[in-house]
Amino acid sequence: MATHSNGTSANEFKLPEIKFTKLFINGEFVDSISGKTFETIDPRNGEVIARIAAGDKEDVDLAVKAAREAFDHGKWPRMSGFERGKIMHKFADLIEQHLEELAALDSMDGGKLFFFNKVLDIPGSAETLRYYAGAADKIHGETLKMSSAYHAYTLREPIGVVGHIIPWNFPTVMFFMKVSPALAVGCTMIVKPAEQTPLSALYYAHLAKLAGIPDGVINVVTGFGSTAGAAICSHMDVDKISFTGSTEVGRLVMQAAATSNLKAVSLELGGKSPLIIFDDADVDMAVELAHLAIFFNKGEICVAGSRVYVQEGIYDEFVRKSAEKAKRRVVGDPFDPHVEQGPQVDKKQFEKILAYIEHGKKEGATLLTGGKPFGDKGYYIEPTIFTDVKEDMLIAKDEIFGPVMSLMKFKTVDEAIERGNKTRYGLAAGIVTKDLNVANRVSRSIRAGVIWINCYFAFDRDCPYGGYKMSGFGRDMGLHALDKYLQTKSVVTPLYDSPWL
Ligand code: ADP
Repeated sequence: MATHSNGTSANEFKLPEIKFTKLFINGEFVDSISGKTFETIDPRNGEVIARIAAGDKEDVDLAVKAAREAFDHGKWPRMSGFERGKIMHKFADLIEQHLEELAALDSMDGGKLFFFNKVLDIPGSAETLRYYAGAADKIHGETLKMSSAYHAYTLREPIGVVGHIIPWNFPTVMFFMKVSPALAVGCTMIVKPAEQTPLSALYYAHLAKLAGIPDGVINVVTGFGSTAGAAICSHMDVDKISFTGSTEVGRLVMQAAATSNLKAVSLELGGKSPLIIFDDADVDMAVELAHLAIFFNKGEICVAGSRVYVQEGIYDEFVRKSAEKAKRRVVGDPFDPHVEQGPQVDKKQFEKILAYIEHGKKEGATLLTGGKPFGDKGYYIEPTIFTDVKEDMLIAKDEIFGPVMSLMKFKTVDEAIERGNKTRYGLAAGIVTKDLNVANRVSRSIRAGVIWINCYFAFDRDCPYGGYKMSGFGRDMGLHALDKYLQTKSVVTPLYDSPWL
């Protein structure tokens, strides 16, 4: 059983008024052409927060037209990197000035902890903007030493109009992880936030305008994936799609790109990351890490350490302590500062996770703790741990995207490596050991985009992040992310008059 909070502060918090519900196209908030709207729901109670404009193909056409014009003829790609950086710094300042309100929007919309939004997601995203603002005037090509009588250099130019398709689990972090490097290099863009969490993206559109980002540079089209999202991906005038979401939809995005204008695509997809804990680990520290790795953000995180491998010498102690810790986890209203875990994002996700739990039981895994909805309203689920899990079970294969840990026992380093790699995904992995040789060997043998040794979720703006295998390709964060939005042009000129004579 998870724990209820004794706190009362959730009821005392005054929720912000919802100011922005329309599409943001060419610097203006506008209704969708069809006039259609959709409900955005508060996962704490299933109630409607607001009705949001439902963009579709015709709205995407207008947004792309605005972005195209801003790219082909506007100031943004043509101003100096330094000037762009200055405006991005101002944008970051504005985010910080509205921190509480923005943090509340992501909590209402996505069930995310208000406290974490305030100390991590929102200020961290302002810092992401500043990181890339600092890079905006440091994007250089190369001088080439040609083997013939020519001189050449490369220009690194913005790729053009970018479509950013973002998921609901980190609405603010994902927005700025994608928008910031694209802004820095001089691209223009259409952002489609997830239909579950559109509120903060529209607010950021408003702040971008206040900061001085020219009209048409950032357009936000709210709406559904199969309509607005699909229209962006198949649009002939979009040059690049940067997508984060499920592997199934990633495939559709690539197909749409392939059958339209062969636009560039980068995909950050699902994960089923192993956390491998060796006998020499400090058990209490390992229990803390494993708990964080799966239950942080209610397990709605693509790099969640959802497969936990524990070496046989410490397995029993680890299992006992992990169960005790999961039972003590405080589940409840994300505005309550005592709460550690809020509701899952929506009813669909809630039901999907519960179905996986039932499947796990039927497949023969042992339900150690949790496994049920928590409370009598909203989409809360108890922190859940299965033991006796095997790699061929659905709960070990599929990304559940919920607070469900699968615990497995292993004997040798080789076995850990082999079983750790037994997944179609390759986003992240964790290793807990004091033995440097083991850490080095395992980190080089696991096929994943990020390896955390004796830590987990150690993200940083400077640390590139992305997938191997079916977790996708392309890197967000770090200076590598700039490459997603740049293309290289070679410029060649003779060193002498008429060198071919
Ligand atoms: P999840 O299953 O976790 O909701 P999705 O991959 O479905 O993740 O959603 C991630 C983002 O992709 C959302 O913004 C969603 O609207 C969008 N999306 C869904 N389907 C499509 C599609 N066919 N084309 C483009 N975007 C899509």
